[in-house]
Amino acid sequence: MTLMLRTVIFAKKVNINNVPVYNCHMCGRNDVFPGVKEDVGKLVGQLGARPVAHSISFDQVHEWAGVLSQALNRSDRLHAAAIAEVTEERVNQLLDLLLLADSLKDEAWKADLENRLSQLSAQYIF
Ligand SMILES: [Zn+2]
Repeated sequence: MTLMLRTVIFAKKVNINNVPVYNCHMCGRNDVFPGVKEDVGKLVGQLGARPVAHSISFDQVHEWAGVLSQALNRSDRLHAAAIAEVTEERVNQLLDLLLLADSLKDEAWKADLENRLSQLSAQYIF
């Protein structure tokens, strides 16, 4: 099983790009990465039963997909070392922003940053 980013098509209309999936070499089957399954489900839920045709970049919606997308920009395949490096950089960046949001007492921004940090928590990573 190889971890990669793929486009998931919902209701034959909505392209959800850069979704982390496990791809099986033997049968070609794709399984959405367990750690993001719930968030992909939420996103699909928000689209409703009759969505308008459009594309969504999942790597801009979900931090973990964002990290994988950046790691892929650094090499042609997803390597654990590159993923760990990008994750650490992104977590540090978000923590810096959290300090800033805290000092500005911007509660909405803080909540958004905390949510983004939780998307990079251990449950998602291998
Ligand atoms: Zn298989």
